[in-house]
Amino acid sequence: MEILRTVPEIRAYAAAQKKADKTIGLVPTMGALHEGHLSLMRAARAKCDVVIASVFVNPTQFGPSEDYDAYPRQFEDDCRLLAEIPVDAVFHPEPAEMYPRGYSTYVEVAGDITKKLCGARRPGHFRGVATVVTKLINLARADEAFFGQKDAQQVVVVRRFVTDLNLNVHINMVPIVREESGLARSSRNAYLSAAEKEAAGVLSRSLRKAEASFRQGEKNAETLKALVLREIQSEPMAEIDYVELYSFPDLEPLPEVTEDALLAVAVKFGQTRLIDNVILEGGRA
Ligand code: AMP
Repeated sequence: MEILRTVPEIRAYAAAQKKADKTIGLVPTMGALHEGHLSLMRAARAKCDVVIASVFVNPTQFGPSEDYDAYPRQFEDDCRLLAEIPVDAVFHPEPAEMYPRGYSTYVEVAGDITKKLCGARRPGHFRGVATVVTKLINLARADEAFFGQKDAQQVVVVRRFVTDLNLNVHINMVPIVREESGLARSSRNAYLSAAEKEAAGVLSRSLRKAEASFRQGEKNAETLKALVLREIQSEPMAEIDYVELYSFPDLEPLPEVTEDALLAVAVKFGQTRLIDNVILEGGRA
């Protein structure tokens, strides 16, 4: 597995692959890899000739009061996991390699899709994501890029700027990987105490409950959201940030689930903010 740390290195690597007529799959991550990330790697491995993973804790997507400094960094462990897939190359730049002195250009998706859900609570977050993902797609010369449904709004935003900027890459969305308890895998789960982790099981439980009710015919958005809300409120350690339902992938308000819908939650346990979601397949349930 090649370890690429600089812009010239990844450019040369991608150019050699293109010259050999290989398709390139890109999997952007911030590291502290877990099974969720690895399922993206496997999806890329199955679809593309060459897989490039990136491990980069992107400073521009963190707000000033967020966990950029504390975010777990364990590059050697990450490399061991990536080599097992196997991934062909990992891009692991320093922040100054991506944002050198004088850096001034950002990709900003205007419009409603970045203003709701996590966009409303994390100003500037999607601007940072859109900027770094644009740079990574460009550097890796990716034909395919892989993202998790865990961050469903991120997938919506990435697909928006890929379409708008005519980037020649296909965006793949991979299902959420969960622990046995149902808790969605996340690098931030490492922040949770044992008690918080147990309490956080309420997220997937609440979503499953709403999904079951939807399958039994409940289509009303307020009723479905109320089900989730009530379940989460029964957990004293949970501090709810949002419980929302929007059409998917447009993220428009949807009073009745008559088309695909994203039922999404963000909840704090102690200092740790976790997100989870389920996609309700409207009309087909
Ligand atoms: P991150 O390192 O948190 O930026 O995540 C990198 C990619 O992995 C993103 O596309 C995430 O949506 C995806 N991802 C993170 N956790 C999971 C999970 N539990 N299941 C599936 N994909 C995930």
